[in-house]
Amino acid sequence: MPAKPPIGIFGGTFNPIHFGHLRSALELVEALSLSELRFMPAAEPPHRASPEVSAADRATMVERAIAGEPRFRCDRRELERHGPSYTVASLEELRGELGRERGICLIMGCDALLGLPQWHRWEALLDLAHLVIIARPGWVFPEEGVVAELLEEHGSSSDALHTMPAGKIVTQTLRPQDISATNIRALLQSGLSARYLLPESVLAYIAERGLYAKQE
Ligand code: ATP
Repeated sequence: MPAKPPIGIFGGTFNPIHFGHLRSALELVEALSLSELRFMPAAEPPHRASPEVSAADRATMVERAIAGEPRFRCDRRELERHGPSYTVASLEELRGELGRERGICLIMGCDALLGLPQWHRWEALLDLAHLVIIARPGWVFPEEGVVAELLEEHGSSSDALHTMPAGKIVTQTLRPQDISATNIRALLQSGLSARYLLPESVLAYIAERGLYAKQE
């Protein structure tokens, strides 16, 4: 039995981070009794166009958003590595740092799960970590294909997160937060307010740096 409670890793572009991410992360920490959760902004996401806002700005927004919540941390390792931000490489590093016994939970929304078979060395992910899937409004699990098979083989209750270091897929249904960064960017680019969708500290940073500015 691993000695310490598992740690959560929440990767994403966080362009920008919003209350959908933050509230889901907090509910997961409490529901799964995680010792901490690290937001890990991707510098160069391999599966989508690079965001126009720099990785440093996106990480700073994460740091501003989580200030004051001791269970949250921002892990900047993907900003410090050159080349595409492969999650498998980050998990290998984390496994080296945390040791073989510690539970590591890689958190993703179900939309991200659907794209998993396109990830670099995706078969290795479950050797390194558990996957915790956040059920998100408007999304259903596939009934066939690679992801369905993966869920069939590795699907588990959350107890396993505390007894094994890696290898299980746990689905967690959270209170729906229908907020997306795409929508926030669209509001800001149209000169509309994004208030109450993300922390004021992040909105202040966006204004200070002139990010997502209205297109003239
Ligand atoms: P975009 O709209 O630019 O695609 P996003 O809001 O989905 O951005 P990402 O940074 O791409 O945010 O997401 C990081 C992770 O957070 C992904 O696994 C995604 O599924 C999840 N996620 C995004 N929004 C929410 C939300 N409202 N509730 C729960 N999880 C979310």
